[in-house]
Amino acid sequence: MASLLSGRELAGTIRSRVALEAGALPGRPVCLAVVTAADDPASAVYVASKRKACEKAGMKSVGIDLPAEVSQDGYLDAVRSLNDDPTVDAIICQLPLPPGIDPHAVASTVLPSKDVDGFHPENVGRLWRGEDGIFPCTPLGVMRLLEAYGLEIGGRRAVIVGRSNIVGKPMAALLLRSDATVTLAHSKTPDLPGLCRTADILVTAVGRPGVIGRGHVHEGAVVVDVGISRDGDVLRGDVDFEAVEPVCSHITPVPGGVGPLTIAILLENALRLRKAADARKAATP
Ligand code: NAP
Repeated sequence: MASLLSGRELAGTIRSRVALEAGALPGRPVCLAVVTAADDPASAVYVASKRKACEKAGMKSVGIDLPAEVSQDGYLDAVRSLNDDPTVDAIICQLPLPPGIDPHAVASTVLPSKDVDGFHPENVGRLWRGEDGIFPCTPLGVMRLLEAYGLEIGGRRAVIVGRSNIVGKPMAALLLRSDATVTLAHSKTPDLPGLCRTADILVTAVGRPGVIGRGHVHEGAVVVDVGISRDGDVLRGDVDFEAVEPVCSHITPVPGGVGPLTIAILLENALRLRKAADARKAATP
């Protein structure tokens, strides 16, 4: 029987530490700004929980709600207004973006010094170059989970299913930085089950319930399910948990696995941005 990799407890520990450190900072509270535009009920739920978590950690959250039909210029102007606002430490541009808004333009417009999601090309470059920076919350949460459970990463074979800029690619970079041998798979990968069976660590971020079954997992593998799909009120991961759990050594539940860590790391990233801004200010004559 596999051990469950529970993100809830670890997320609680991270959030308490962040709240303590944020509360000890001099001056105004850490401020996280969220730009929303798409008319998307699921993302409205995520935004509400991010803002609530922020307030629970003693941080301030502000929002700019744009109409779903906002132009690209209008959207980028809203981002620039937050860049220029000295009372804002961190900016989230909530996904999905409305149709017609270029995600690359959005990611490049958020100042790297306020880029809490780690999507700016400067932070992406730092991640791949092995430099310090702000990195995407969900893959960073996966790394924390693996580390918290003392799971070996260096020298292991890792397969990641999904190649998005927000999960799959940064996940690959982080595992590589920790000396795993990494393969990134996607919808065009031939013989996905055979490739996945080579993995000591299998991370899946697809968004299709049951896409990973018994035939994708070798005995004793560590299985991390990032996928979240809504089935009515029920949340489902990518992994057929009942089929896979008996053969792997460790597995994340959905919900309660990676999900809680995403918000905890978001708060941690916001705190890091604020501390870095304070340090820059203190160093300015
Ligand atoms: P995305 O941008 O839609 O990317 C999905 C990836 O899955 C793509 O690379 C796609 O391949 C690949 N894919 C689709 N069908 C496949 C198949 N049958 N076999 C192999 N690969 C397949 O999604 P995302 O933003 O990365 O999110 C992925 C999942 O993670 C979603 O369920 C999302 O809700 C969840 N998520 C969870 C958290 C959390 O906090 N737990 C955070 C973020 C995202 P192509 O590139 O070839 O199309």
